[in-house]
Amino acid sequence: MRSLALAAVLLHTSVSLSTAPKPDLVLTGGHVFDTARGVFSSNTGIVVRGGRFFEVGADPSAHAGLEVVHLADDDYVLPGIVDLHAHYNVKLFRRRRDETRVNPVVYLANGVTTTFPAGEYDPEDMIDLRRRIDAGEQPGPRLLNSGPYYGSARAGWSHDISDADLVKDIDHWVALGVKGFKAKGIRARQLRVLVERAHHHGLTVTAHLDSGFRDSVNPKDAILMGIDRIEHFLGGDTLPASRSAYDSLAELDPADPKVDAIIRLFVEHHVTFDATLTAYGYFGKRGEGYDYWVDEREFFTPFVREAVAKRPHLVDEQFEKIGRVNRALVKRFFDAGGTISLGTDHFSGGEFLPGFSAHRELEALVKAGIPPADAIRIATLNGARAIGMGDRLGSIEAGKLADLFVVRGDPLKDIRATRTVHTVMKGGELVDTRTLLESVKGKLGPEDEEAAKAW
Ligand SMILES: [Zn+2]
Repeated sequence: MRSLALAAVLLHTSVSLSTAPKPDLVLTGGHVFDTARGVFSSNTGIVVRGGRFFEVGADPSAHAGLEVVHLADDDYVLPGIVDLHAHYNVKLFRRRRDETRVNPVVYLANGVTTTFPAGEYDPEDMIDLRRRIDAGEQPGPRLLNSGPYYGSARAGWSHDISDADLVKDIDHWVALGVKGFKAKGIRARQLRVLVERAHHHGLTVTAHLDSGFRDSVNPKDAILMGIDRIEHFLGGDTLPASRSAYDSLAELDPADPKVDAIIRLFVEHHVTFDATLTAYGYFGKRGEGYDYWVDEREFFTPFVREAVAKRPHLVDEQFEKIGRVNRALVKRFFDAGGTISLGTDHFSGGEFLPGFSAHRELEALVKAGIPPADAIRIATLNGARAIGMGDRLGSIEAGKLADLFVVRGDPLKDIRATRTVHTVMKGGELVDTRTLLESVKGKLGPEDEEAAKAW
């Protein structure tokens, strides 16, 4: 059997826009990632019933009557990617807003089946998006809303907000269904309230912090407050409060012994580090990994493509340096037993899209020296656990929600094989990625000058 039975795939694609019950099926052939052992095993059968994995390593003849989907010998099945810093926003014509039509499709078609946006620009729109996806009205990944930023990254934020008003605000977003919080530009007093209230609701907090400079919070202090995850950089005494985090990071020697102390603190407090390696590369030289295997620009309208092509890319030397420092730090963190999650942190400025960047991030983790099997765990189970869903998502195991993607070629031999996603399953529903991507080409952004003014 050469590949997936296309008719079966198309059948399920049409089902993906309805709320009809998911058909039970068995996937046979190819190889399946065994998360516990960090290897691919030969796939005898993955049985999916009622949107969940029913049995892995099954004998298909014992499940007669189920629809059978045949995979090719060089097909590799991985758990769906969990992106914990999955922005939906697009920055064009000096405006930054969450884009809810094309981005969800691009994420899903790339095997990113779960997303936590880590700070939403238009949180009401994002909650509407989640409702549409959950209702089967629109294809997209699982959307774990973060709600608005907590801190100065939110328009209209006041550092004078009282504790009581802050609690009221947190409760408001919890009632609307957010699944975690993101702080950026927050003060220590507010972060303490946020962590405590989020935990009261059984939710997690992550933050983009600083060094302590100008009333900011250093990750070291946030960890002692009980924060769950930290974005971008480790912090600690490597980042003195006398200057900004970025100024120190660009000059940091990754072998500095102070790095060990902060890594120990992360490990002791079970705080996950969301490394966001490629986010720095985007602002830097966009070297290795910033190639196109699919031309992501094709998803934008011709009007946007033309405007973006005229815009020069200015290399941010500081971010270029920080990118290099962070790769070395991530490797040290990993070697010391620290838990890492995958986060793309990629708004789109018209050149790249975050769904594709999840594969860039996987490649960057491997380039940093992390073994491919561990990079895959980082991109899947670690993210699921970090957001409190490790019992339901993150690996292909009986009882978990049936989220997976299929690629051509062995990612343990070359991690870039994950770029070749050709089939995705979310909650037991098969998605034909090619059809899905074709459906949104040329649709992102305003169509002309007039529309750009209102964008
Ligand atoms: Zn971000």
